[in-house]
Amino acid sequence: MRTRFRGITVREGVLLRGTLPSGEAGWGEWSPFLEYDAAVAEPWLRCAEEAAAGDWPEPVRDSVPVNVTVPAVGPGRAREVVLAGGCRTAKVKVAEPGQTLGDDEARLEAVRDALGPGGRIRVDANGGWGVDEAVAAIRLLDRAAGGLEYVEQPCASVEELAAVRRAVDVPIAADESIRRAADPYRVRDLEAADVAVLKVQPLGGVHACLRIAEDIGLPVVVSSALETSVGIAAGVALAAALPELPYACGLATVQLLTADVVAAPLLPVDGALPVTRPVVDEAALAAVTAAPDRVAHWEARLAEVRGVREVVRKDGRS
Ligand SMILES: [Mg+2]
Repeated sequence: MRTRFRGITVREGVLLRGTLPSGEAGWGEWSPFLEYDAAVAEPWLRCAEEAAAGDWPEPVRDSVPVNVTVPAVGPGRAREVVLAGGCRTAKVKVAEPGQTLGDDEARLEAVRDALGPGGRIRVDANGGWGVDEAVAAIRLLDRAAGGLEYVEQPCASVEELAAVRRAVDVPIAADESIRRAADPYRVRDLEAADVAVLKVQPLGGVHACLRIAEDIGLPVVVSSALETSVGIAAGVALAAALPELPYACGLATVQLLTADVVAAPLLPVDGALPVTRPVVDEAALAAVTAAPDRVAHWEARLAEVRGVREVVRKDGRS
């Protein structure tokens, strides 16, 4: 990683090589975070297998708009990040521990200034507020930003999201509240969000996410799990296949990595990513191949996840 993100400085994962229907090599990324147990990591593997087999739905668009992400930095740096990003939508981190609402306001004013009146601004609190705090903060930040597109995960729990949503006019997006296949349905049933942030790996792949999107009837923002371009391409495949895509996606994260494994990394051009199948560059892959002890760790992890599947099959559960 270029900087510490989600508490990690090194991103590890496995690339699976399969065969596309055309006969060419297909690639999938399996990169569950290290603390996830085998049951949690299993849908992530389904996503990688689907990608390696080339089993993606037909796209209905050939590019996917993405947002630039502005970390919890000062206004000067926030402005630079927006201008360098070249995107029409900015996602701005707020509610950072150790900072004040005044810091968030100043950052949002700078982002609006850099984006201009036509740009869209969303904020992400990563569950950092209580309900009352969120309601007050959202009203203030909506003014500072000159209008917010939505607020992502203002509070930690689904119940709190629902309470905030009833109290404010700004739309609410659920992100951390959606990590397992059943979660989007709970968000829908409690009327906790206006927007669902979906990630293809934790939810079991592109087809699984398309079914979820159809079932829950909420607009979807496809977001990454800090993958290489191989994993990002699966998110792009989902975003490209959704019947409606009213919001920019959170898939412009390859630049958070110091290296990539493809010849043409999925970096935004004019605020959008192209819809393509990844082709791994063998030299780039060789340059980031893990040390033998880490390879052994991942081989054991893969065997464990496949073992979980065996147990599930023997129990007769689906
Ligand atoms: Mg988020």
